[in-house]
Amino acid sequence: MNVDVDRLRRWAAGAEGALQARVDELVRLRADLAALDGQTCTGREFWQGKRLYANHSVGKACPVHGKPEPGGRLRCYVGSDPTRIERARAAMALEKQRADLEREVRTAEHGLAAVGNALRHYYGLLGYDDVAMGAW
Ligand SMILES: [Zn+2]
Repeated sequence: MNVDVDRLRRWAAGAEGALQARVDELVRLRADLAALDGQTCTGREFWQGKRLYANHSVGKACPVHGKPEPGGRLRCYVGSDPTRIERARAAMALEKQRADLEREVRTAEHGLAAVGNALRHYYGLLGYDDVAMGAW
């Protein structure tokens, strides 16, 4: 068997930094997601003339507008004041950003969970057991 020890050393030298970068990215994504808590509106614009409403799906809660009655939906009056309209639209845009971030967090967590399983296997191949590596 031909083992390229130089290549193994290069891989090992870069492994911790590569993993740490992804873990740091996940921590950042989670913080960005948490920073949006309570600020996003899950509704959609509904206009009646010059008056805006934030209409929400049936049974869908909104961090800004609250929870509907069981089986009901929130229909929240925003009005025609430009500042209120801008604020409502900004909250709806933040909801899209929140959903995108949530997807990114799930993808990052999925990838890191797979890396965790691979590392566990890796340590096993090197002859270490879970206890020796500090119970995970
Ligand atoms: Zn809302």
